[in-house]
Amino acid sequence: MSNNPDRDGELYVIAAPSGAGKTSLINSALEEFPSLAFSVSDTTRAARRGEVDGVHYHFIEPATFTERVAQGRYLEHAEVFGHGYGTDRARVRQLWGKGCDVLLEIDVQGAAQVRQSHPQACLIFILPPSLEALRARLVARGTDQPDVIARRLGEARHEISACLEFDWILVNDQFNHARQQLMSILRAWPLRRERQKIVQRSRLADLLSS
Ligand code: 5GP
Repeated sequence: MSNNPDRDGELYVIAAPSGAGKTSLINSALEEFPSLAFSVSDTTRAARRGEVDGVHYHFIEPATFTERVAQGRYLEHAEVFGHGYGTDRARVRQLWGKGCDVLLEIDVQGAAQVRQSHPQACLIFILPPSLEALRARLVARGTDQPDVIARRLGEARHEISACLEFDWILVNDQFNHARQQLMSILRAWPLRRERQKIVQRSRLADLLSS
């Protein structure tokens, strides 16, 4: 990865336990910011009903995933619920090359890897208001059996314990409120000092020249 902040766009990571409402928030952000691009991950799990290859995920064989891991093709990768998931670094680079900022929707293991390799990335965690609310949402979604819901809730506790490693923590209690907060982060992040030192270098030089 080039890691050239003069040329690369922003890298946003969004993580949340299953059922915290992150997909709706992400879709809303993608609508609001035309220059924001979603990075479609590879996964070895089977497509669920309604999922389209190349849109929701690139569905690949486990052998292909293992090969790609060995080739170092992934910016980050992890095993989640027994399946491989990974972010192809070439795809991210391609999106940056088109002038986009890139959004990754990945788990906490992947987020920790991004933190290491891309310290300038913006890590956002979405919390559910409570475990009860999370349980209610998973039940209402109607896609999981009770045993799967119990497993997802156990996993949620583990994921939530990682939220303090993130830059931003949102509580998705009321969608519109959480949405506004997410938009605020996405608007403010590019204005941080470390980025502006680079982007505004020549302006600052002009302004400060005597
Ligand atoms: P699902 O299979 O329900 O779509 O996703 C299961 C979990 O895998 C979610 O926590 C999701 O954020 C995570 N995930 C999806 N794509 C990636 C990826 O490319 N890398 C990592 N590390 N996790 C991913």
